[in-house]
Amino acid sequence: MVESKQQLAIFLSKLKVFDQPDPTLEQYPTDSEVAASLLWDAFMEGEIEGHSVTDLGCGTGILGIGALALGASDVFFVEIDPKVFPALMENLHLLEKLMDKKYGNYRIIQGNVDAYDHPSDVVIQNPPFGVQKQHADLKFLKQAIKIAPVVYSLHKTSTVDYLKKIAEDSRGKVTKIYDYNFPLKRTMDHHEKKIERIQVSALKIES
Ligand code: SAH
Repeated sequence: MVESKQQLAIFLSKLKVFDQPDPTLEQYPTDSEVAASLLWDAFMEGEIEGHSVTDLGCGTGILGIGALALGASDVFFVEIDPKVFPALMENLHLLEKLMDKKYGNYRIIQGNVDAYDHPSDVVIQNPPFGVQKQHADLKFLKQAIKIAPVVYSLHKTSTVDYLKKIAEDSRGKVTKIYDYNFPLKRTMDHHEKKIERIQVSALKIES
């Protein structure tokens, strides 16, 4: 098992990211330092080890794979775009190689988050920020609160106050906010700088 946040960050930095990201689906991978930090905090709260975790909009799987590495009992990877599955599978194989362990305790589900309602203990997600498709972030947040009593959800910091209200309307309470300076690598043609930094916050929501 992983023994420190640093070790987790190094492992997560080795994972593959999107080959040909689809801008309409806002396919941006979570930075490995940010993913390690968020997962480690949840782990230290006792919310990962032995718990079932859902990664909604999993992409290439960094959050769910980190949860497996930290001893989650089950991980559900949910994603609409099957084109990302080869990279996700490659990352799961890398996990098994690095941890020298077979993981039979995960499932990959292709589908729209709207229609996904299987419950779990925790959701950890980095959904679309709703920049390309308005309110894409809201449906992830609402669905996450429906399926799990503890949710960690990454969003643009500028949208946090609004999302807090949305969470409350869904009977969720924002109990912590973690702020990150998120490096967005130049993976899509409409990005002008090589690495752009954006302010991102993870909301912890309990219900
Ligand atoms: N969670 C991953 C990917 C973030 S990008 C990471 O942290 O690296 C957002 C992901 O949500 C993309 O993979 C995109 O294809 C997926 N997605 C977008 N809309 C979706 C929907 N309606 N249902 C399920 N997945 C969706």
